[in-house]
Amino acid sequence: MNVLVTGGAGFIGANLCQELASRPAVGKVIALDDLSTGSAANLAGTDVELIEGSILDPDLLESVVAKADAVVHLAARPSVPRSLADPVASHNVNATGTVYVLEACRHRHIPVVAASSSSVYGAVSVLPKHEELPTQPLSPYAASKLATESYVLAYGASFDLRVLAFRFFNVYGPLQSAGHAYAAVIPAFIDALLRGRPLRIFGDGLQTRDFTYVGTVVRVLADAVLSKVTYPSPVNLAFGTRVPLIDLAQQLEEIVGSPADIRHEEARAGDVRHSQAADGLLRGLFPDVDQVSLPRGLAETVRWF
Ligand code: NAD
Repeated sequence: MNVLVTGGAGFIGANLCQELASRPAVGKVIALDDLSTGSAANLAGTDVELIEGSILDPDLLESVVAKADAVVHLAARPSVPRSLADPVASHNVNATGTVYVLEACRHRHIPVVAASSSSVYGAVSVLPKHEELPTQPLSPYAASKLATESYVLAYGASFDLRVLAFRFFNVYGPLQSAGHAYAAVIPAFIDALLRGRPLRIFGDGLQTRDFTYVGTVVRVLADAVLSKVTYPSPVNLAFGTRVPLIDLAQQLEEIVGSPADIRHEEARAGDVRHSQAADGLLRGLFPDVDQVSLPRGLAETVRWF
């Protein structure tokens, strides 16, 4: 089976390409990426074929999808703050780009596994967040990811395409970059601790997130592709491990072994207060899935830095 990963040079994408390349049932692994936030260096030393180009180019997509038996669609313009800075750009890649990917796949009946986000729950305060709750996006990013999953599932229903839409929560691990203004919280904290810089926490630090190690995420994605799992509604991909950011900072302080100089800044627009996944549906579909614990995953991530 040949697998195309859109966004395959990004953080989750490059980890997934490596996981797929290690599976005996997988033939060729192809990454399509415009390298806007991803990097060719993430795939260095692998057998993955990197095609540099955009999912907003339908002709390119047709020719690349023609080489694949399955697609994992991860290409997106990630991050809430980035979407606040340029909502149209987020919409173009995350919503319109998804339709282009689906169009290319529908013509050839190629199954699609796609990444949505826990941000779609937004203002819904019920915990844990289970998939039957209503969605209430708080940012253009969240709205665009709701469009991603809605299109994926609608193509499944309309064109009998095999589809699966995962809602990732906070994914972390090796290859997640720290060196930019939109860095995710774990690489930003580790980078600050290693450089002896202040740790910036937006708000009081009691906001919680459900962190999943990238190795766990890519194992589930690869299993989904190879076992041809489909589902007609979105599936959370996280395990309900809820951690306040202030505790996360303390855990990282201990692993890195240098004291954290925590600076509280104003809470950011568009950020949700608490996040925790219900994992019943995920465990029902993937009964063998076993997650890497937070302490072990954090230690692995610090080692990679
Ligand atoms: P990332 O930025 O590392 O990966 C996204 C990749 O998409 C990058 O390599 C980027 O260059 C590529 N890309 C962007 N626009 C493109 C375009 N027009 N054509 C082709 N490639 C394009 O981010 P990530 O964290 O690896 O995210 C992967 C997916 O997971 C995204 O869909 C994101 O929305 C979703 N997600 C991630 C998290 C997380 O915690 N990391 C949480 C929820 C959802």
